[in-house]
Amino acid sequence: MTPPYLLFDVGGTDIKSALSDDAGNLMGIRRVPTRRGTANPAESLVDQLHGLGAELLAETPSVRPEAVGLLVCGIVDEAQGLGVFSANLGWRDAPLREMTSNAFALPVGFGHDVSTAGAAELQFGAGAALGTKVRNAVMLVIGTGIAAALFVDGRPLSAGGYAGELGHSAVPGGFECPCGAHGCLETIGSAGAIAKRYSLASGTPVRGAREVLEAMNAGDPIAARIWNEAIEAVSFSIAQLCASIAPEVVIIGGGLAQAGEALLEPLRRSVRGKLSYHREPLIVPAQLGEDAGLRGAFLKAKEARGAGA
Ligand SMILES: [Zn+2]
Repeated sequence: MTPPYLLFDVGGTDIKSALSDDAGNLMGIRRVPTRRGTANPAESLVDQLHGLGAELLAETPSVRPEAVGLLVCGIVDEAQGLGVFSANLGWRDAPLREMTSNAFALPVGFGHDVSTAGAAELQFGAGAALGTKVRNAVMLVIGTGIAAALFVDGRPLSAGGYAGELGHSAVPGGFECPCGAHGCLETIGSAGAIAKRYSLASGTPVRGAREVLEAMNAGDPIAARIWNEAIEAVSFSIAQLCASIAPEVVIIGGGLAQAGEALLEPLRRSVRGKLSYHREPLIVPAQLGEDAGLRGAFLKAKEARGAGA
């Protein structure tokens, strides 16, 4: 297997790690909880990555890694190699690329988890399935919260890590958000919000949005109202993107995307209803699932190896 890459996708709750070959085939995928609550979160993360890397390599002693791909959540400055801020994990302006590179003595390709997963979807997943090179796209990850990655004229839009915070942009009907703002999209349009709002409104606690969808299909009017309000809110945000960056494709990922056409069909209709002369985007499901981040980390690692060679 040459040349091998060590890949890490660091989220607020868990870290996925794997090795890959030069074609991006993943091996030894594992998932462990992200160490939290330590005094120095950046050092603690790099220490944990080093341990995970050692475990992966111990399983395949013949492998000599040539580069690392590292994705982290939060606000990420890819150009500077900085974890600018993570509300979940607690670092501020942490030079994660350099720290990781020192720990492994290898070049490190560094990126934002959602942005890089979006790039992988475009290259290997939903984008590849369209058969044409998509230059303007949005990846919308709808789960507990809502995160987005934006691609404009063939490039990811980063803006120092601050672009794509669609989940924390106000929409009509939105509510008080833990981030401190009012009306954020994820307070009404996320899977987490759908479950929470339904539990409150119906008095029947549910674990997730899937149960709300089932209740709606069984004729529950409260479930239908909350589901439709979520779709209306997400379509509002997509329509604004149509006017601002005009994506050709919107890729929907995250837990809510498992609803498939029950989500996508009314979402397309609702977006269409808000557009006039704008370019209407295709709205398609993500295809890489949970491995999108690791596939993206592979792209970053390959880039870093090329740059270091
Ligand atoms: Zn917010």
